[in-house]
Amino acid sequence: MTILLSTLNARYTHASLGLRYLLANMGELRSQTTIQEFVIGAKTTDLVERLLAHRPRIVGFGVYIWNVEETTRVVAMLKRVAPEVTVILGGPEVSYETGEQAIAKLADYVVTGWGDVTFPKLCKDILEGPQPLMKVHAGVQPPMAEIALPYSLYSDEDIAHRTLYVEASRGCPFKCEFCLSSLDKTAWPFPLDGFLAQLENLYGRGARLFKFVDRTFNLNVKTSLKIMQFFLDKIEANPGDPVYAHFELVPDHLPEALKESIAKFPPGALQFEIGIQSFNPEVQALVSRRQDNAKAADNIRWLCEHSQTHLHVDLIAGLPGEDVASFARGFDHLVSLGAQEIQFGILKRLRGTPIIRHTGPFGMVYDPYPPYTVLATNLIDFATMQRLVRFARYWDLVANSGRFGNTTRVMLGDAPFENFMAFSDWIYTRTDATHRIALDRLARLVQEWLQLRGMDQAAAAALLASDYAGRIDGGAHGAKQTAAAAPARQVRHLAA
Ligand code: SF4
Repeated sequence: MTILLSTLNARYTHASLGLRYLLANMGELRSQTTIQEFVIGAKTTDLVERLLAHRPRIVGFGVYIWNVEETTRVVAMLKRVAPEVTVILGGPEVSYETGEQAIAKLADYVVTGWGDVTFPKLCKDILEGPQPLMKVHAGVQPPMAEIALPYSLYSDEDIAHRTLYVEASRGCPFKCEFCLSSLDKTAWPFPLDGFLAQLENLYGRGARLFKFVDRTFNLNVKTSLKIMQFFLDKIEANPGDPVYAHFELVPDHLPEALKESIAKFPPGALQFEIGIQSFNPEVQALVSRRQDNAKAADNIRWLCEHSQTHLHVDLIAGLPGEDVASFARGFDHLVSLGAQEIQFGILKRLRGTPIIRHTGPFGMVYDPYPPYTVLATNLIDFATMQRLVRFARYWDLVANSGRFGNTTRVMLGDAPFENFMAFSDWIYTRTDATHRIALDRLARLVQEWLQLRGMDQAAAAALLASDYAGRIDGGAHGAKQTAAAAPARQVRHLAA
């Protein structure tokens, strides 16, 4: 193969949509191009050996926040042992602040932004001349109808074992400053009929779990309705053959027609991820996030009470202008609305995002290494931020895992943030760990905590046993993917 497209995925189950788009759009070079995916955590020498086994002339790497450090090592080694191989980088991590990055210095070329037409053109120039003079090439955005869709490139193994990412649109019209999508001018839809035909094809090949990476699925309600009807038709035609669809929604836009459609889905078929990020209007204004909090709360409540959708709602700690008390109020409000999962993320300074303008005024201190997590602000010191990080981790283990549904409700009581923070601080002093806590040990610790808080031993054991029985019965959280297994939304948005 002349051209190799490669990336290091965060997990085996994450099939790279970006690489498949590139391959689908290689035009006359497509027959000379192949994909070689890896998973982070492998030995650099093994990766380089496997890349070179293809004898490529060009290797294109998809570089993301989760793989930039390992990919930098791969590129450095590759250029040492095979300097004749041309290395091209692309992906969100190298699309901004390109010149300052070690990986960009090691590579021959970088494509920033959209690679669909710019990457194949660059490869053609490298192979056939004239040789490109510039190192950094700004990706050209073609009309959406001219982008070849990549879904036929999902293999049967991908369909059987991996998450299938799909997108009906790219971009976002909103301007939340912590998010890379804020740099998009708007959202651009793919022609809907062609997209639905591809979904039909995937479904016909056995695909049953579709994860939409559209930033705001409910932006254009007509389109949303047609896509949802596609899934409703499948469910109606094959009631014994469940299909699952995952969408990201803006919370304050749920017209009646959409509600009617949502209400028709059976339990578990629909998963919504809803970004709240902060309920504090001053913080929202600071980071340019437009959100009608009352409408958002009403819609979340409606979804919890009138639909069988699994809801996953995001909050971000460490935003400029938000102290712990404000975050806690937002958290408690969200718990009261009844969402099944609250993803508690810690702010990251993604390369290129405008949130950097608040660094000085709000004393924002970020980790200089990926994923560039905020370490302190003028309102939350480092030690407190560490407590929040641990809270998020234990929250995933206990609440979002769905393993302790009844117990969590009791633990939270009428002051969810305060009570869970007390548990988080206590369990950390008991274990000195936030990872690798076996489930049975975690259950024992939770019981010990309940007893410390005044519950007698038999009642605490019975409460935990009720969760265990619920799981054996395939209870409320039966087959869902847990937030603990999912990367935070800020990062996940980089996946496509
Ligand atoms: S956080 Fe969501 S709504 Fe805001 S810019 Fe990003 S994708 Fe758009």
